[in-house]
Amino acid sequence: MKKLALHWKIIIGMILGIIFGFIMNSVGGKGFVSDWIAPFGTIFINLLKLIAVPLILASLIKGISDLKDISKIKTMGLRTIGIYITTTLVAIIIGLSIVNTIKPGDGMPQDTIEKIKLKYENDAGVSDKLTKASAQKDAGPLQALVDIFPSNIFQALGNAKMLQVIFFALFVGISLLLIPEKKAKPLVNFFDSLNEVVMKMVDLIMLFAPYAVFALMANVIIAFDDTEILLKLLNYALCVVGGLILMIGFYLILVKVYTKKSPMWFLKEISPAQLLAFSTSSSAATLPVTMERVEEHLGVDKEVSGFVLPVGATVNMDGTSLYQGIAAVFIMQVIWPEGLTFTNQLVIIATALLASIGSAAVPSAGMVMLVIVLESIGFPAELLPIGLALIFAVDRPLDMCRTVVNVTGDATVSMMVAKSLGKLHDPKPKEWDDNYEKV
Ligand code: ASP
Repeated sequence: MKKLALHWKIIIGMILGIIFGFIMNSVGGKGFVSDWIAPFGTIFINLLKLIAVPLILASLIKGISDLKDISKIKTMGLRTIGIYITTTLVAIIIGLSIVNTIKPGDGMPQDTIEKIKLKYENDAGVSDKLTKASAQKDAGPLQALVDIFPSNIFQALGNAKMLQVIFFALFVGISLLLIPEKKAKPLVNFFDSLNEVVMKMVDLIMLFAPYAVFALMANVIIAFDDTEILLKLLNYALCVVGGLILMIGFYLILVKVYTKKSPMWFLKEISPAQLLAFSTSSSAATLPVTMERVEEHLGVDKEVSGFVLPVGATVNMDGTSLYQGIAAVFIMQVIWPEGLTFTNQLVIIATALLASIGSAAVPSAGMVMLVIVLESIGFPAELLPIGLALIFAVDRPLDMCRTVVNVTGDATVSMMVAKSLGKLHDPKPKEWDDNYEKV
């Protein structure tokens, strides 16, 4: 066990968790899993969230003050946003091409639709998404912009408002560059040291990862109860998964062509973050691990990763936007075929782009924003609960898969931006497993 690479340990934990979940399902042990196993997964996610905010703060302030040149920040910001928007558009177009070619929603038998309606239309999960979506919609068009600027930094830190923390860190970092070096040094050293400590905390938390994913996966499995409905939605689910795989392929091409690095090496080094994204369904919870992998294993300098990754975890969700495109059209194919016009599909491209930016990096946020995508094309309000009910049964596994793509996209873009700024270097090989000796 000691010699095994971390990603293998996590994979073994996952597989055992899945098997255990199925066994518990069949022997009526769901209560045991939710009472005695699932809390360990929650502890792990809490620990990751605990260090996410100090990590963003420390690595960004330290990184920006190392840049020594304010104009570089502007270049980095513009490049990052430009590439993020481009990759998201590619994702939506891939999604729409697949769903319009394969048409997974055409010809779904009426009795299946009735069964799904009966089971999920009034489900608490579905109404929760509808309520959250309407709260989001009521906020006004510029609220997202206003939300970037905190009025109280402690509140921003306490509520883990990523964009507000990023804004504050940039503000502090830039101001540090503008004061005499002698005065700036103590604070820079403080954040440098904080950054090192938090990185070490990531290492320590990751020792627990194989056991935590066991708990997380077992908990996911006990939620699956209706395999019949799952099979009926297989075509739709395969369209999403196929699109996501194509998106990963696109990233690998970008890595190869743009950074001249080996795609296989990239996949191997980023895989622990991908596996955690899969098990937690949250890019925000995965962020500390993504940062650790990208900085220590992919060779991206802190000033780039400290900016590109937290911004990406919040606004760049290629997997989510691809899924939103496919889900919106699939729902229309089943219950509102008259809405399937070319103009509506163009509107979907624009709104899925905005919706993925607005989606929080937490489980099932993409489904909340899907409601807004559907509303933007005039989808009848009374059909919304049925629309969500249709895709509800398979949403969690698809959420797990799209989160992997969201995280991989952020890592890819951080390498590209780093390369373009001359901030990509050869990482010193470092094995996670060394920590067993150090702990
Ligand atoms: N769970 C996704 C994430 O955290 C968001 C979503 O698509 O629901 O990246």
